Amino acid sequence: MSLGVILGYIASVVAGLVLANRYQLWRLAKPATWPRLLMYHSIANEAPTGMNTTPAKFDAQLAWLKQQGYIFCTVSELLTTSQPKAIAITFDDGFANNYHNAFPLLKKYQAKATIYLAPEIATIDKLTTAQITEMQDSGLIEFGAHSVTHINLLQTAAEPARQEIIGSKQQVEALTGVACRSFAYPFGRFSDETVELIRAAGFSSAVTTKKKIIANLTAQAFTIPRISTHGAMDSMQFYIAVSRGRYKF
Ligand SMILES: [Zn+2]
Repeated sequence: MSLGVILGYIASVVAGLVLANRYQLWRLAKPATWPRLLMYHSIANEAPTGMNTTPAKFDAQLAWLKQQGYIFCTVSELLTTSQPKAIAITFDDGFANNYHNAFPLLKKYQAKATIYLAPEIATIDKLTTAQITEMQDSGLIEFGAHSVTHINLLQTAAEPARQEIIGSKQQVEALTGVACRSFAYPFGRFSDETVELIRAAGFSSAVTTKKKIIANLTAQAFTIPRISTHGAMDSMQFYIAVSRGRYKF
């Protein structure tokens, strides 16, 4: 073997390792029987970021999931189903564009989803009561709570934290007319004390931003991990995230 051939061989091995690491191919795919949760925020024709995915990309991701045989569930349904390939699409914060851009696509694929509302969040263009009512009536959308003002519960004293948690449950129930059963920790921040407040408020589940796929949601119903999406992920990275729980961007 010539030196050139050996160097060429080494170069291709290195290139392969770089590619495998970029796509986290060394992680093993989790079994199809393990439920998945995907986390989104804004769906808009704006720059793709960790917070925003374009409608065209979201459309393609839903189409791919449907074609792969995934069953779209709300988060509360995901906790009780034993169906393989169950997946919950989630949106945090309650962006008005979830109605304008995501909801038509969810209807197109008859895909259920869960939206976590922070009813008094100040920084975004929020869903209106009429939009929430229409989505609730469609039977496709579950509304969860995400604190009243989108506060970091780890930096909040126990009593105000309790008010933020209970207040958001009550406000979401007033908006939808049905029980609000699931909570999403703002900024993904929580402690053992926060979990106890969520449990005491009467929620039956809570989702985090821990990037993982686990076998049994009910075993950790108040610290459920989610697969986070990024607006700039390509289809290979999306596939890796859905099959492994995370991707490297
Ligand atoms: Zn949030």
